[in-house]
Amino acid sequence: MSLNFTISELIKSDTASKYNINNMPDINSLDNLLDLIFYCLQPLRDKLNKPVVITSGYRSTRVNRLTGGVSNSQHLYGQAADFIINGMTPFQIIEKIKTYNIDFDQLINEYDKWVHISYVKGKNRKQVLKIS
Ligand SMILES: [Zn+2]
Repeated sequence: MSLNFTISELIKSDTASKYNINNMPDINSLDNLLDLIFYCLQPLRDKLNKPVVITSGYRSTRVNRLTGGVSNSQHLYGQAADFIINGMTPFQIIEKIKTYNIDFDQLINEYDKWVHISYVKGKNRKQVLKIS
């Protein structure tokens, strides 16, 4: 499998840059980010043949707090990423993910602006939610 994603795409954070915060994941979070790429993001990218633009991946505790993430956010563990795909609505993206049978823990349409996807090895709940 060739990968279109880099770990840096899943680590970079405007908030971390702005406040000069180290947003480097620990080894467990890094492992989770790789699973997220391998089982969710790359299969979606391959099937759609469209770039998947990550808007937020891993968040250290401070970054998560500053960005208003919930305290138990899966972003803290490298288990979640938010993304957009140009030319597609979150609703359309989610429908495709279901059609393609891509595995996930939670799939959330957030404010009709982006999609949150998470992956928890061996514990995927396959929940589809919407936040508005
Ligand atoms: Zn998210």
